[in-house]
Amino acid sequence: MSFAGELRYYLQILKEIIFPRACAVCGYHVDNGMLCEKCRKHYLLQYQVKYTPREEYLAGQSAPLPEDVLSSVLLLYKYDGVLKDALHRLKFEGAGELLPMLREEVEAALPNPKLRWLSQFDIVATIPTSQERRQQRGYDVPAELFLSILEERNLTACADLLQRERRTAPLFALDKQQRQAELAECFGVTPRYTVAGKRILLCDDIYTTGTTMAEAARVLLEAGAASVHGLALCGAQANWGTEADRS
Ligand SMILES: [Zn+2]
Repeated sequence: MSFAGELRYYLQILKEIIFPRACAVCGYHVDNGMLCEKCRKHYLLQYQVKYTPREEYLAGQSAPLPEDVLSSVLLLYKYDGVLKDALHRLKFEGAGELLPMLREEVEAALPNPKLRWLSQFDIVATIPTSQERRQQRGYDVPAELFLSILEERNLTACADLLQRERRTAPLFALDKQQRQAELAECFGVTPRYTVAGKRILLCDDIYTTGTTMAEAARVLLEAGAASVHGLALCGAQANWGTEADRS
């Protein structure tokens, strides 16, 4: 651990002695993350969205989806309530102090069976944040949430597999078609990486319409990647399905 890292670690311990951590929903004391076990269960999804393979829809068996470039996306939590609020504060209000707690929520949602699923990938990469937004925030949210956890589990993880080729407008106010137009050709594979034949996992903080991850996956498949799956901290309600769909 670097000196700065060590300092942060001890300051965090000190802070927890002075201000004991409380569940963001019910206020019950917690040692880990931002939620107690009970409230975490309410938000936990660990749900894998699986997409119809391209061949099937070409054969006219299902409607074409832009997400079909992705094989599947694992959504760890519901994008709702305190988690939605925390991600909003992290991205738009500079609340970087939430990062360690959210990282612990990622860890809590990746038990051993999920880690076995992760071990199939040759490369794990995060969706890159634009340089401008990274400078404004002082951190790259997907990289901060996922990289250290995955590296600790001996996975090759990188924040720069993809690079932003140009600037894009914020997406939250755009519909799906507008998002696709805004993101078209916005990513490129960083030249020092070889993705041909590789199974790749892309990580992002939020998965809503899937447009960002699909565009990133498309670029990787065009560069020869064997398959691209996704992992997101939070998934929007449109992707959860109903209990009946999931069982
Ligand atoms: Zn609670």
